[in-house]
Amino acid sequence: MSDVYNKAVELAKRRGIFWPSYEIYGGIAGLYDIGPVGTMIKNKIVSLWRKYFVESTMGMVVEVETPMITPEKVFEASGHLKNFTDPVVQCSKCKKVFRADHLVEEILHKNVESLSPSQLDSVIKENGIKCPSCGGDLGEVRYFNLLFETTIGPYTGERGFLRPETAQGMFTAFKRVFESYRQRLPLGIAQIGRVARNEISPRQGLVRMREFSIMEVEFFMDPKETDVPLADLENDKVKILRAQTKEAGREELDIFTVKELVSEKVVVHPWMAYWMAKASRFVNSLGINEFFFEEKLPQERAHYSKQTFDQIAIVGGEKVEISGHAYRGDYDLSGHSRISGQDLTVFKKYDTPQIVKKKTVVINKQKISSLKDVGKEIMKKISGLTAEQIEELIRQDFRVDSVPISSVVSITEREEKVNGEKFFPHVVEPSFGVERSLYLVVVNSYKEKKDRIILSLPKDIAPYDVAVFPLLEREEIIKKAKEIRDLLQAKYTVLYDESGSIGKRYARADEIGIPFDITVDPQSLDDASVTIRDRDTWEQSRVKVDSLVCSLEKLFNGTKLNNIGEKADNNE
Ligand code: AMP
Repeated sequence: MSDVYNKAVELAKRRGIFWPSYEIYGGIAGLYDIGPVGTMIKNKIVSLWRKYFVESTMGMVVEVETPMITPEKVFEASGHLKNFTDPVVQCSKCKKVFRADHLVEEILHKNVESLSPSQLDSVIKENGIKCPSCGGDLGEVRYFNLLFETTIGPYTGERGFLRPETAQGMFTAFKRVFESYRQRLPLGIAQIGRVARNEISPRQGLVRMREFSIMEVEFFMDPKETDVPLADLENDKVKILRAQTKEAGREELDIFTVKELVSEKVVVHPWMAYWMAKASRFVNSLGINEFFFEEKLPQERAHYSKQTFDQIAIVGGEKVEISGHAYRGDYDLSGHSRISGQDLTVFKKYDTPQIVKKKTVVINKQKISSLKDVGKEIMKKISGLTAEQIEELIRQDFRVDSVPISSVVSITEREEKVNGEKFFPHVVEPSFGVERSLYLVVVNSYKEKKDRIILSLPKDIAPYDVAVFPLLEREEIIKKAKEIRDLLQAKYTVLYDESGSIGKRYARADEIGIPFDITVDPQSLDDASVTIRDRDTWEQSRVKVDSLVCSLEKLFNGTKLNNIGEKADNNE
């Protein structure tokens, strides 16, 4: 990771944003504490996400909370028991284990995400790649399952796992939410919650953690309905690295409007475009303006996905995935239906009933029973088959003990009036990592000015809106400053600080990204005025206390400080 990442990590530790967990015991890779300031920023990021992904969706999306502890059956149905794996390789000398694809990528600087273990083995051998730690020979590449296993209940408890994504909670609760909410599609179920992945070698700070939080929506819809409310979003532009470009060995980005993503069939369904547009606006609101969507090749996609785009943010010169957008189709609902035996389809009523031709199976029961064992054998053969499958057997002249089944079974066709159909909704999933977003926001906002550090956070996600400082430790000034703190607290989150020199207090406030500092000085006692200081420009203006709330409102709405009050001398 580049220099700015290291500097941001240092700042984060010093200012209570985040640090390695269990530090006093030496820490555990991939586990991080989020400190007091980090929690405030994180909560604001989460609120902003909620605004874009839940609150501004015209009631289409609702939020739930489901458990982390998950019984084995769920991951059997979801395919995670079999497929939630990464390739690992162990050094035969020092026994250290590495994530095989990352190791090869670091050494050869090429993307090998899609290679199988045996292909990775060949690349390692052909390029003479050795253990980066001791230079020893590497063993065979194999798959490692990233699920954390546990036991639910004491002694003979049931085998369970910590969820690696919140998604399965939404799939297993789908029917309940659907029935209790509005029994209509589309329906998005959102969740913000902890997940755990036993990552192999987490080394990149909050980018690859073993326990973290995810904000995701499982958006259930009828795949045949392509009328998507894009109006407000359709002219937004998005940059795409298409799968076909990657396949041709190139990396250039194509720019599409959201409307073109649909009309040019870049996305498999218009709802993908809708959520990618929302994700773009959300990431912009975090102050991250450089990003693109990378379409994954089939062999790079998760087992459940028919199309995936990773949203790649470019922060501090590095490319980091901030969100994933997967078209999960009906993979999950049909899997859970199969394993649980529950009907997870929804019923779609037609506008007008339709007449359909339906095939039915007619069995000559008398003749079957007269055939005794052969009859039983025939019944066994056809039970569970559809009329179409049985018709095919008849067409092939299928026989049991030389008795043709056509002599006892026939197919007839009749017209039936149907009012609707049952189907599994398809799912589009936008998924963001909370801590990864926090990390990228901190690195992206990290600025240096005259040997000082400024965390230039967008105002919406700053930990505090304003800081209030008494310039001097004089009783009347402190009293006045506290009055102003109380006045502002009704509307803003306020940091009040009276310790240390004013210069140090400004520096501290800048380092945690507080957009404005209000300072009470001796003049405040004479003319009921205070100074407002801008975090990024360090300019100061003097305003009357009476108009302070109104001035702050203007500032939060984008007015520049030099258009407010009277320019004040710098008191740092
Ligand atoms: P995925 O389900 O792998 O597409 O992950 C969804 C999002 O979660 C990613 O886009 C990241 O923002 C975040 N994420 C995934 N894995 C990790 C991890 N090990 N540590 C922190 N964040 C992660």
